[in-house]
Amino acid sequence: MMKQAFDVIIVGAGSAGAVLAARLSADARRRVLLLEAGPNFAPNSYPTVLTDANVVAGSPTFDWKYHTEDAARLGHDVPVPRGRVVGGSSAVNGTVAIRARPADFARWAKRGIEGWSWETVLAAYKALENTPTGDDAWHGRRGPLPIRQRTAEQNTPAMRAFVETGGAIVLACAVVLPKSVGQLRLSSRDPRAAPHIHYNFFDDPVDLDRLVEAVRLSRKIGRTAPLSDLVDHEMAPGSAVGDGEALRANIVANVGAYLHPTSTVPMGAATDPTAVVDAWGKVRGLRALRVVDASILPEIPSVPTNVTTIMVAERIAAKLSA
Ligand SMILES: Cc1cc2nc3c(=O)[nH]c(=O)nc-3n(C[C@H](O)[C@H](O)[C@H](O)COP(=O)(O)OP(=O)(O)OC[C@H]3O[C@@H](n4cnc5c(N)ncnc54)[C@H](O)[C@@H]3O)c2cc1C
Repeated sequence: MMKQAFDVIIVGAGSAGAVLAARLSADARRRVLLLEAGPNFAPNSYPTVLTDANVVAGSPTFDWKYHTEDAARLGHDVPVPRGRVVGGSSAVNGTVAIRARPADFARWAKRGIEGWSWETVLAAYKALENTPTGDDAWHGRRGPLPIRQRTAEQNTPAMRAFVETGGAIVLACAVVLPKSVGQLRLSSRDPRAAPHIHYNFFDDPVDLDRLVEAVRLSRKIGRTAPLSDLVDHEMAPGSAVGDGEALRANIVANVGAYLHPTSTVPMGAATDPTAVVDAWGKVRGLRALRVVDASILPEIPSVPTNVTTIMVAERIAAKLSA
């Protein structure tokens, strides 16, 4: 077998890994190996189950089929869909693009993490996007990622149904900045073995209080005109479920995941005992090993995570190439 040497080995061709591979291999002198557990497709040959934004995590073929072990706490485990294909979770996700907010990065700075102020990340968010609309002060025109503000005609059938209220109205509630902290542990030294995942939802009771309050508020909105004229019935929890303890129990029994977990190996200042990597993904105490993906965000942002993961990878790739 022919032996080959590489300067950089990237494990995983997901949102972050694909960016790193593209940027680092742009210098032809750098030998880059990109390892991906899932299949690859030519750009125009991805199956519809991956390219159709109406299908979110729709195929077990391209999924790691993880689930949490939260039955003791919640009465049920929670599925944890993750993409297993070139493109990673960005290939199975909802394709919603929202930047993290200035307040999210202000919290990073408060943890003593340097180099991620809103001003610096804004330039990187602009550079990655290619958007024809909006103000030049906020939007990029020539980046690799097409981001579109949809017009009414471009909306998917599900979106149209929502907008035109011809179908169901969904008032979904989520605790986007939870106080509870989950846990991910390796189950074995075999890298093929699924990890033990605990979301630990409601470990901090404040999270349940907030979700109960959100459901109450949604019910109030749905039961108030003019929206109430358009609502046929409450799908969940359902009008048979009252307030108080019954509502709390129903929420615990039915809670699912919002699909944007982060921060299993968070970045942090040198003095932060919980930090696994530094502000540029370098693993503490190890030479030449970095983690660059959604897991290094120091805490969960208040929005979906894909463009922020891409932005982080772009900035770290630029740093490594400098
Ligand atoms: C169902 C779903 C819907 C979502 N919807 C949205 C949305 O609408 N908007 C949004 O902003 N965010 C969304 N997200 C979140 C967003 O897609 C993720 O935060 C982002 O893709 C994470 O990027 P990553 O690089 O950290 O990991 P991933 O993109 O998951 O990449 C990890 C890659 O590593 C590969 N891999 C893992 N282990 C190995 C191994 N041992 N060897 C080789 N390869 C390996 C995987 O197969 C995968 O390709 C969604 C996520 C999911 C799962």
